[in-house]
Amino acid sequence: MTDDTRLRATVPTITELSDKGAIVLVLAHFGRPKGVPSPDLSLAQIVKPYEAVLGRPVRYIDWEGDAANVAMLQPGDIAVLENTRFFGGEEKNDAAVIDRFAALGDLYVNDAFSAAHRAHASTEGLARKLPAFAGRAMEAELVALEKALGEPEHPVAAVVGGAKVSTKLAVLKHLVTKVDHLIIGGGMANTFLAARGVDVGKSLCEHDLTDTAEEILDAADRANCTVHLPYDVVVAKEFKANPPTRTVNVHEVAADEMILDVGPAAVESLGDVLKNCRTLVWNGPLGAFETAPFDKATVALAKTAAALTIGGTLVSVAGGGDTVAALNHANVADDFTFVSTAGGAFLEWMEGRELPGVAALLQ
Ligand code: ADP
Ligand code: MG
Repeated sequence: MTDDTRLRATVPTITELSDKGAIVLVLAHFGRPKGVPSPDLSLAQIVKPYEAVLGRPVRYIDWEGDAANVAMLQPGDIAVLENTRFFGGEEKNDAAVIDRFAALGDLYVNDAFSAAHRAHASTEGLARKLPAFAGRAMEAELVALEKALGEPEHPVAAVVGGAKVSTKLAVLKHLVTKVDHLIIGGGMANTFLAARGVDVGKSLCEHDLTDTAEEILDAADRANCTVHLPYDVVVAKEFKANPPTRTVNVHEVAADEMILDVGPAAVESLGDVLKNCRTLVWNGPLGAFETAPFDKATVALAKTAAALTIGGTLVSVAGGGDTVAALNHANVADDFTFVSTAGGAFLEWMEGRELPGVAALLQ
């Protein structure tokens, strides 16, 4: 096991239920076995690390004789059931699998926001079969997300960065209708700059999407959403650690250069935007932050957001795999109001989509 974040996230819910005398059966998946059991994807291997994070004993129950083994558990016991995806019907939300899971318990608690964008037997189906509740981690996630895009305090700013526009088109289209300021950074900004007639040289840029970028800019105009694109950028001829760089106006990028970070002047003015905002939603780094020195803009804006959050003027919510890594790199993840470790579910939420696992709980 490489990272116990997801295990730790469930501790409050599991211990609370166990302390109240429930028999706690943990349903979870690992990897993509697609209905074919395999020892390397068995949840037997998480029992020891789970005991370590919970600080109490954890049993393991496989899918042979599960009902009989569950019947022997005592109030307060915690047991991990085998990988739910060892059933092909799990990902198909199959009725027989839902019944199999439902027969083992009386109540269903969903504590996995990160899996809520999928209508699977253990996420959506079971919630419709048994009395269903949100666990503490799910609850915290939903409260934070509601504060950020549901009923946020305005002005609201969104930072959207990362590599490609194509992966986040739906996010951008939804955000322009929701936020007052849309800050576009990362490789994505290059496509928008190109749409505005800027020559971005060798930068990562989806030239076939410049029309789409223009449509998004028009939609933002109509919705009174101010779009912020970088006006100075850090460029290099080679993408490697610590190459020679130049900080230039976007109109001065040479044909053999690539934009790898937002420039310091733009970052400073983006900080001023955040100072006037009450809410921030952030997905995607502003530059190629894994490679020095192209982490500077992301780190600087993250530190500004963290300071405003600590100061009490900003509610800051961030999510996305690389975004979490970038905030950890900037050492500010703990200072944000909420950092979501859910990748796909967080992005679908940013697209304004209903998450089936959450919808089933609300019903
Ligand atoms: P998240 O996982 O948070 O949703 P993405 O996967 O969309 O974020 O994007 C992260 C990636 O974008 C990082 O690997 C980063 O290096 C890359 N990136 C950011 N800015 C640039 C840029 N100007 N050129 C190339 N890659 C970039
Ligand atoms: Mg990513």
